[in-house]
Amino acid sequence: MTEVTQYAQIDWDEQGRPHSRQFDDIYFSKDQSLEETRHVFIDQNDLRQRFSTMAPEQCLVIGETGFGTGLNFFCAWQLFNECANADARLHFISVEKYPLSHADLARALALWPELAPFSAALLAQYVAVHDGFQTFVFDQGRVRLTLMIGDALEQLPQLDAEVDAWFLDGFAPAKNPQMWTPELFTQIGRLCAANATLGTFTSTGWVRRGLIAVGFEMKRIPGIGKKWEVLRGVFRGTPEPQDNSVTVAPWFARPPVLTGPRQALVIGAGLAGCATAASLAARGWQVSVLERHATVAAEASGNPQGVLYLKLSAHGTALSRLILSGFGYTRRLLQCLQRGQDWDACGVLQLAFDSKEEQRQETLANAFDRQLLQRLSREQAQAVAGVALASGGLFYPQAGWAHPPALCQAQLQHPNITLLTHHQVMQLRKVDGLWQAWESEKFLASAAVVVLATAAEIQRFEPCAGLPLKRIRGQITRLPATARSQALNTVVCADGYVAPSRGGEHTLGASFDFHSLDTTPTVEEHIGNLHLLDEISSDLAERLDTHHIDPHTLQGRAAFRCTSPDYLPIVGPLAERQLFDQQYAVLAKDARQVPNTPCPWIEGLYINSGHGSRGIITAPLSGELIAAWIDDAPLPVPRDVAEACHPNRFMLRELIRGKKTAPTSKP
Ligand code: SAM
Repeated sequence: MTEVTQYAQIDWDEQGRPHSRQFDDIYFSKDQSLEETRHVFIDQNDLRQRFSTMAPEQCLVIGETGFGTGLNFFCAWQLFNECANADARLHFISVEKYPLSHADLARALALWPELAPFSAALLAQYVAVHDGFQTFVFDQGRVRLTLMIGDALEQLPQLDAEVDAWFLDGFAPAKNPQMWTPELFTQIGRLCAANATLGTFTSTGWVRRGLIAVGFEMKRIPGIGKKWEVLRGVFRGTPEPQDNSVTVAPWFARPPVLTGPRQALVIGAGLAGCATAASLAARGWQVSVLERHATVAAEASGNPQGVLYLKLSAHGTALSRLILSGFGYTRRLLQCLQRGQDWDACGVLQLAFDSKEEQRQETLANAFDRQLLQRLSREQAQAVAGVALASGGLFYPQAGWAHPPALCQAQLQHPNITLLTHHQVMQLRKVDGLWQAWESEKFLASAAVVVLATAAEIQRFEPCAGLPLKRIRGQITRLPATARSQALNTVVCADGYVAPSRGGEHTLGASFDFHSLDTTPTVEEHIGNLHLLDEISSDLAERLDTHHIDPHTLQGRAAFRCTSPDYLPIVGPLAERQLFDQQYAVLAKDARQVPNTPCPWIEGLYINSGHGSRGIITAPLSGELIAAWIDDAPLPVPRDVAEACHPNRFMLRELIRGKKTAPTSKP
């Protein structure tokens, strides 16, 4: 388990500049910060010339140690904006152990009015910045920021990226030697693209020698201001994988990059499909979204209120880290929608309804920062919720609810996306390197890449028939708000959940039915939901007068959650099953073998599915993950999280265990 995120402790000098109490060092030099940043990081990486000569669709990746106030990021972005091709992209990846609070960041950035157009964009999205990988997208995807929150030595080994230019900025080596260790240099070498460059403000001998040891050619350059000398470097090595934190097995390796027109089909316009389309469109892909219904979000993504419910683990499991990164990403997307109508950050309260849950909550409260979650006594919980409750619980102040159809609609608002409704894809055919989508004998569309985002329905397509997806019916009840129910201020969850009213109705949910394949709402399940409400708050039930409502008059909707056996979503490329079994047959005898045979990929086919009831949290970030797989771009989640979500994991497990997992249900 990693440490709980700590925020930067900052003192402000007489000129209003930030000084780190944790490191007793300055974030930027007193007199010449912008000039110094430009000299050390921008000029030593030749960024003006490199940005100016970028081809359309090219993406330059900058890596940084020590994000601090983001000054270097804004300077790089400003220059990129000034001189790069309109269709080129910048991806800035930085690691930060002690992120600044929003207030401190705003105060520090007010020092640089000329950077305001850029810093204001970050400040507007600087929410839910918790441990691990946090993705920010600016300028319709032209600029992307991946902030890895945590210790550099813990975070960098999880990164799967090729960095073109490095900014090494982790406080002075004498004050913070941990940021300048051989292990960290090994990671920097591991992550270098061919001929990657580097700039750093320090010219300390052992730093220079450490960088040379991992493959850099280093040069001392005259500094400016008080800096006598700075360093620049060019990566000349092909370093041996040394400590090798990222050893990639062929079945989880990057599939070959497709050349040719950047056109993709996305099948399904729920959260997963819309997010995939948005992430691809933002990278310059022309995307056709094929949807069988008349509108987007017509199935499981169509509920009026989806809860941003975080089911975390104190043990840093892959699912828990995905949820934390996904939560941050979704929250940032929601910032752009209309609060109150499309979403609300009213908080989510998870009640400690029994001693086991109370224990679990106590463990979580010790493992995560207070900005993310707080334990509340019964009195505190009631004060937050505005209604009487049977217990206290765990409160997530930055969470809330969202109207998933609004998020889906917003994600499709990109000129590169065409939505084709009433297009039911029944069959995929591969002809001359293109995927053709057919509805019976009617040709619908074709492209080199196809992404399947139709929940459990992906099993209809032959390559996915063996994926073990389960459909679980869920029904919500729409409860008319009353004057007294308006007191509810936050989402409250126990076994079920209830949300503050949206447009005069509270959403109450949800039933679980593993057998029914019918989507007609039933009275029994409305009654079941009313019982869930009684358990959450009998006071609220009374305010809603539910005991006098005839359940036959209740409105609601039912849809299918789609889950995988390990509860992780299924996101990424897929191998051809028969060839996979043949090529890696040795694993059935010895699971430790890693044959050196390239994976038999189904070229151009990708999956974004299996998000269960938390698609609002995991599906949008999974769109980014799919686009990163397709585009050979830095992965937005740690390598092991991407592998934990990989579609090939099931065939791998089955091969090792020597048996086939039959799909748990038929679509
Ligand atoms: N680039 C920053 C800017 O533009 O404002 C200034 C960076 S400041 C000189 C160094 C940063 O490195 C601090 O924000 C500090 O918290 C971070 N840092 C120090 N040690 C770290 C570690 N071991 N892992 C990750 N970040 C660390």
